[in-house]
Amino acid sequence: MKRNLLFISRYPEIIDEFQGILEEKQIETEIAQNGTDAMELLKQKEYQILVTDLNLDGYNGDKIISYVNQVFPNTICMLYTNSISAVQLGFYLNKRDVFRVFLRPVNFRQEFMQALEEAYELYDLKKHDRDSRQERLKQLEDNRKAIAEIEGSDGLERLNEVRQAVLGKKGELTAVLKGMKDVAPEDRPKVGQWVNDTRSAIETILEEKMKKLEADALKKRYEAEKIDVTMPAVKHEKGNLHPVTQVRNQLIDIFASMGFEVYEGTEIETDYYNFTALNTPQDHPARDMQDTFYLSPEFLLRTQTSAGQIHVMEAKKPPIKIISPGKVFRSDDDATHSPMFTQMEGLVVDKGITLCDLKGMLDELVKKIFGKETTTRLRPSYFPFTEPSVEVDVSCFQCGGCGCKLCKGTGWIEVLGAGVVNNKVLEGCGIDTNEYSGFAFGIGIERIAMLKYGINNIKLLFESDMRVLKQIDD
Ligand SMILES: [Zn+2]
Repeated sequence: MKRNLLFISRYPEIIDEFQGILEEKQIETEIAQNGTDAMELLKQKEYQILVTDLNLDGYNGDKIISYVNQVFPNTICMLYTNSISAVQLGFYLNKRDVFRVFLRPVNFRQEFMQALEEAYELYDLKKHDRDSRQERLKQLEDNRKAIAEIEGSDGLERLNEVRQAVLGKKGELTAVLKGMKDVAPEDRPKVGQWVNDTRSAIETILEEKMKKLEADALKKRYEAEKIDVTMPAVKHEKGNLHPVTQVRNQLIDIFASMGFEVYEGTEIETDYYNFTALNTPQDHPARDMQDTFYLSPEFLLRTQTSAGQIHVMEAKKPPIKIISPGKVFRSDDDATHSPMFTQMEGLVVDKGITLCDLKGMLDELVKKIFGKETTTRLRPSYFPFTEPSVEVDVSCFQCGGCGCKLCKGTGWIEVLGAGVVNNKVLEGCGIDTNEYSGFAFGIGIERIAMLKYGINNIKLLFESDMRVLKQIDD
């Protein structure tokens, strides 16, 4: 280490004498000839060693020493004087602030040379002390920083980062332990003790903070997951099928159980399939029974699912047993009629089919739809494509036949039209009427739904009013 020294003297001959010695020892020396100059120098830098006369112009030596001891606690101060009383003062000072006092001129030079060596040794020791003190202070500061980080951590994750940074393998405390080899042997127990104390202090704080954070997190979770059992439950709306679809499906199930196949025709038909093939040629008065939506002279919206019969009979040979459900269209609009409604056509063609087979099947059908007590009644009617034709009534399922508002006091309710297939229709489709015969029927699905669920206006089925539709769920 570079040595330096401040020499204060008002005697030029003393300055000359010592300057040589100090230069020889390669000690960087500043000279001040009075107290005022000395104080100026001391304001600019710190000296390792200060040597001063007691009596000076400006500030006296003891004043300068007091100042140095306050401002530069590591600086080693030495005093020389030529008065006995001053030596006594020196002894007094010695106890506090002065390393050595010399009486000039007695052995001054020799004593000084000796003291200089010791002073530098002492300076090195004090410097070491100061360095380790500063190191300690710095570590305490780091410690405080770590603790502040721990206290400030707002999450377990961050806390773990701090733990790693301080206590981990590459942490600050571990680094101190690794640096132990540079610590003086006599200081190692102290440093080791300090590291252990610090570690356990930080661990305690970490532990507490972690518990607090965990408790906080748990509390937050409980609050977030809190269930108020008195709150109304979230209602899951369950939908249901439209009443017309429900009745359609029920009818399909019933007919399927009797061995019928389902044939779905097209909603746009030609005049031929909708009328002519069903024994209703142009100018036939029966065409007036159905007000038709024509798309062109040839094409129309089918007025009846009966058109499907022709397609089926053209496509396959008897035995035939089909139902054909679907939408049909007529220019007709009142409380019981809608321009669009749903029909289900039925057709059976086989050997030896008679009206009795129709009656038997219908009895079975109405019992399944309206209940076991229900019976049927056939009334003569007219349709161009059946001969004979019948209107089918069921016994009133509301009053049991005594007469009520639903059956208009008659005890019977009209439900569908049917008949034995007109030979002209079968022959038109190339079926030998000597061998085969058949029956056909057409059911209005809305009519069945209205009867079954007590709906008095067909419009309710098409207005999509959920208050109405939700009530009907079979
Ligand atoms: Zn009735």
